[in-house]
Amino acid sequence: MPEASTILWIATFTELEEASGVRNGSGDADASVLFNLCGFAVRAQMMHEGEWWLAIETLEARSACRSCGVFGVGNGRRRVVVRDLPIAGTPVVLVWSKPTWRCREPLCGRGSWPETCDEIAVRASLTERARRDICRRVGRELDTVAQVAREFGVGWATAHQAVIDHGDQLIADDQRIGRVTGLGVDEHTFQHANASRRTQMVTTFVDIDRGRLLDAVPGRSGEVVRTWIDKRPVGWTDQIQVAAIDAFAGYAAAIRDRLPDARLVIDHFHAIRLASETVNDVRRRVQQDTTGHRGRKGDPLYGIRRLLQMTWKKPERHRLATPARRPRCR
Ligand SMILES: [Zn+2]
Repeated sequence: MPEASTILWIATFTELEEASGVRNGSGDADASVLFNLCGFAVRAQMMHEGEWWLAIETLEARSACRSCGVFGVGNGRRRVVVRDLPIAGTPVVLVWSKPTWRCREPLCGRGSWPETCDEIAVRASLTERARRDICRRVGRELDTVAQVAREFGVGWATAHQAVIDHGDQLIADDQRIGRVTGLGVDEHTFQHANASRRTQMVTTFVDIDRGRLLDAVPGRSGEVVRTWIDKRPVGWTDQIQVAAIDAFAGYAAAIRDRLPDARLVIDHFHAIRLASETVNDVRRRVQQDTTGHRGRKGDPLYGIRRLLQMTWKKPERHRLATPARRPRCR
């Protein structure tokens, strides 16, 4: 939280400036251009403990009563402290001298009202453009919430709330998923089990061509896949040519059900893993058939257990490396 002494300093600065007649209604023009928040001007600035403090005011000099339309008269100001976009990596604190107005019409019952601004919500600790930028940094540039919170000079929960508020709007946008010709479906462990919960699984949907995550839905079942596909716009499924899944039968059934024209394949990671497990099973079976016991040190099959798992390129390196060790064996 800002210190009262700093707010007092910046307030005194603006009041002194006002009394000396320095102010001409436009404030510090260069700083205002850099600040670039529509409808506001920077009146004073100072560096305090590694943060920029800017005293700002709205340019609008009058406000009409929403009940009767008569312009109000000034009814005092109060200071609103809010954080904004950093300037060259330096956190910025705004001190907005926020006016309140009082209706001049004796017959109007509205009384007084405060000035409002879309960019600075009531009781907000961040400007809306700062909140949008936090969401962009976390979502698009993959910065952590903690890292962005530090740069903006706010707590983790405040930064995270900005990600939720602006990120949910982006997720809800129907145009977000776009045209997809190759759909990947896989399971993912979202939360590991602990004393109070089981392992939480999610089903992830990926655009194979763009290598982009489309969605992550709680649960691991064919029903999850069916429900997700059913929510897509009409005609969306017609463009899917390939669906890549792991070896889970529930996913395969759902894809055959909802994407009958798509070519169903097992993704290469799971195909390689299945092949490796099969080779291992065969090795263990042959080991038992020929020796009657599990593989032990010195058994030929046990000795090549890792070689059997290598790709076709790695055995080449293995063969090249073998002669170098032979002299020591003789
Ligand atoms: Zn009025």
